[in-house]
Amino acid sequence: MPAGMTLRRGRVRGLTTADTIAGMPRQTLPAHLDDGYRRFRTGRYALERDRYRELAAGPQRPPTMVVACSDSRSAPEAIFDARPGELFVVRNVAAMVPVYAPDRRAHAASAALEYAVLALGVGSIVVLGHGRCGGIAAAIDERAPLSATDFIGTWVASIRDLAADVEASEAATLHTAVERRSVEQSLANLTTFPWIRSRVAGGRLELIGAWFDIALGELHALGAGGWRPIEEA
Ligand SMILES: [Zn+2]
Repeated sequence: MPAGMTLRRGRVRGLTTADTIAGMPRQTLPAHLDDGYRRFRTGRYALERDRYRELAAGPQRPPTMVVACSDSRSAPEAIFDARPGELFVVRNVAAMVPVYAPDRRAHAASAALEYAVLALGVGSIVVLGHGRCGGIAAAIDERAPLSATDFIGTWVASIRDLAADVEASEAATLHTAVERRSVEQSLANLTTFPWIRSRVAGGRLELIGAWFDIALGELHALGAGGWRPIEEA
């Protein structure tokens, strides 16, 4: 180990000099992450060691991309019990796919879509919404401090338009309806990308809408008959 570097429990290797630099991120992991990492090393990584090495030796080839919300309760890797290398994931507030806009500005979700479809050749894209979505609620309720002038207010502005079109008798029903309507909108927006539209038309790419009920741990999918829970065997 080079001089001046120390290695302590919970510290990031080689970054200890950052202690002297004001404003640098903390180097000690929060205890729950530190504990989780240790469980990963002795549990999942130990079990999947060969698979990780195999995946590191070549390019990733995930069969599926998931567009999910950033919500801590709706993690696609957990819901689909995914193994390393299985899902290519982009997450943002409310799992939103923008319309195709090649305006040379930076578009995070569009860049991820482009990479997944054109570079990785995924065979399916799942848009995964979920219940009790804070992003959707921000659009419906315009709760302070998440006003229209904040980042999130601007981000969910298109959902506000969707909410205006949805009729519901009670708040819970309205939120669920808008959460699902937002997934449908994102699916429609996916087809504005020419290289997605052509692959869907050619049968090489499948677009799937899904919505996760956090309380029940239940996944619903959008089909020809509307939204239905996925049947369990
Ligand atoms: Zn959400």
